[in-house]
Amino acid sequence: MKPYVRMLAAAPIVAGLVLAWSGTALMEQVQVQLAPLPAAPELKLSEEQLKQAMAVVRVGRRLTPKSWPNGAKVAVNIGYDVDNMGVARGAPLPVAASGGEYGAVEGVPRILALLDKYQLPASFYIPVSSAVLNPEMIPLIQKSGRHEIAPHGWVHEAAASINSAAEEERLLKQSLDYYEKVLGKRPVGFRAPGWGFSQHSIEALKKSGVLYDSSMMGLDEAYELNSKGQPTGIVELPVEWILDDAPYFGEAGALPSPELIFKVYRDEFDVAYTEGTLCMLTFHPHVSGRRSRIVEMEKLFQYIKSKPNVWVATSAEIAAYVKQNAGKTN
Ligand SMILES: [Zn+2]
Repeated sequence: MKPYVRMLAAAPIVAGLVLAWSGTALMEQVQVQLAPLPAAPELKLSEEQLKQAMAVVRVGRRLTPKSWPNGAKVAVNIGYDVDNMGVARGAPLPVAASGGEYGAVEGVPRILALLDKYQLPASFYIPVSSAVLNPEMIPLIQKSGRHEIAPHGWVHEAAASINSAAEEERLLKQSLDYYEKVLGKRPVGFRAPGWGFSQHSIEALKKSGVLYDSSMMGLDEAYELNSKGQPTGIVELPVEWILDDAPYFGEAGALPSPELIFKVYRDEFDVAYTEGTLCMLTFHPHVSGRRSRIVEMEKLFQYIKSKPNVWVATSAEIAAYVKQNAGKTN
């Protein structure tokens, strides 16, 4: 036996001794620090139960059409979640509320002026509470005739904490009724507050008769939502946190350079353009309506406008189009 072979042969014994010692020490520490964990129920699930556990909402048919309108290479939606004064965030104290109010009184007008400058359409998802507190936003948004308004909850409520199918249905119907009354036509889409679905949300959406939802993250392109193995007929226009300004700029994530973040948006757009699919952008007026950020938003709009064959549209227009013309990739 050569020397290095003897060393290799001895190695497991040495390693075992070290492991036994450190393992014993570790176990003593664990026993001191942790109470026994309850048995995880998912460990007992069968194959069929595993599938059923995740069947409430799944990715269905891909809906990218063979071509976009006028031979466009990509569809883009500029979305604004108008979460100004979130009553659902536990009735915030006045200073925090004023930071949200900024979105209504400074952010929205500044953003609308920018959209007018570039003649771009956008979708505004507004909790009813935000519309009630700053009703002057609605005619401002409606003025150009290019933009869409759709509900984003009643008070930006978290669906998972409602814990009632009937209550979710009531809040969604009440929100759609409110906007039908205010806008003169019923919205055709919905974006869940905080992009949160409960186990009941999909049923509430099905009953509401909306054309599309924009809260899920299953694909980069438009798709149909499936529930319990069945197509629901609801178009999903998926969002993503990396295309949302709030995690980057919000209270917990104040990053110094809007320029770097908007580079992420430009790269996301570029790949969507190459792949011929969809780019869904999400901004908040109280976040990106601020001066240093609107500079970068304008550069992004200039960049998108500089590319040939781009279809910038409302989510309602994109959803209606893919519903009619699906079939490029499936
Ligand atoms: Zn929101």
